[in-house]
Amino acid sequence: MTDAAATTATRPSSLPVKPRIYSGIQPTGRPHLGNDLGAIRNYVALSQTYEAIYCVVDYHALTHVHDPELLRRQTLEMAAALIALGLDPERCTIFVQSDRPEVTELCWVFNTVTPVGWLQRTPTYKEKRANQPDDVNHGLLTYPVLQAADIALPKASLVPIGRDQAPHLELTREIVRAFNARYGETFPEPQAVYTESPTVLGTDGVKKMSKSIGNTIEVLGEPEVIRKQVMSMVTDTQRIMRADPGRPEVCNVCRMHRFFGDDYEEIWAGERTARTGCVDTKKLLAERIIAHYAPARETYRELIADPIKLRRILDEGAERIRPIAQETMAEVRERMGLR
Ligand code: ADP
Repeated sequence: MTDAAATTATRPSSLPVKPRIYSGIQPTGRPHLGNDLGAIRNYVALSQTYEAIYCVVDYHALTHVHDPELLRRQTLEMAAALIALGLDPERCTIFVQSDRPEVTELCWVFNTVTPVGWLQRTPTYKEKRANQPDDVNHGLLTYPVLQAADIALPKASLVPIGRDQAPHLELTREIVRAFNARYGETFPEPQAVYTESPTVLGTDGVKKMSKSIGNTIEVLGEPEVIRKQVMSMVTDTQRIMRADPGRPEVCNVCRMHRFFGDDYEEIWAGERTARTGCVDTKKLLAERIIAHYAPARETYRELIADPIKLRRILDEGAERIRPIAQETMAEVRERMGLR
């Protein structure tokens, strides 16, 4: 037997062959263009290289969503959207956080190794307290501990993040380190996989596209909705008259053309020479976005119309994680002196 074969033969079932990557996604309903270009496209690319686990984190959402129907609907919408936008449930694992409640046990365990000061200091806690001053629930404070448990439960060694999210992952690493120091080496300290992704500006052309601002382009929405949203986009504010030359490098519409076709330089040239007007460029962009997302829109529609099929895909994802989660928790319990 070769060494490689020996390794394979003795490998516990839960140990990944490829490095295991984990990412949690908030159940915010249908994603917008910024979510796709800034995050979901990367998830799809990463699932080709790594053993990827993507989790729709509904327990996390409980810290701010208190309408059960809304939470259920948005969770399913996000899951359907991830699949429609290219995540293949055969090539990666997609599951809903609350379908694997072992994570709440691990969160409790991690709570007992996490000093309160670490959590009180996190900028996101301060931000969230300010955002919902009438609802400063304990979940807002413990949120990073649940995040650490999310990543540690499947013993993921990699987490895809933007550079600005590095401090969040550092806290996870500290929590895991605290556990390992007290109870013995159990979890890998997860490393960041820095993903290069554009920041997509909203239809206002100023702020980051975001649901909370309402400046989104709903790529999985009806073509009419997309048309309306694109036509409302702010372009180069210095281009007043149709004959004025445009400045495509500062025009949000022109910049978006870079993602939808390889002829953007030609489009930019048309703007610079005033051969084309802002309205033409917007109309073209709207049609390109509609065409680009047509197959995804169709898949999304089918999945939403067939909740049994969608549920089955998510159940399969949760089942795939089950042995890994149970093995982790058995090890944790053993190390901690729990029965
Ligand atoms: P929103 O609240 O607008 O739905 P989230 O804050 O939930 O967005 O972000 C979900 C993911 O999408 C994150 O990885 C985030 O970095 C990415 N994302 C969100 N908005 C944008 C944007 N405008 N441009 C690029 N990436 C974005």
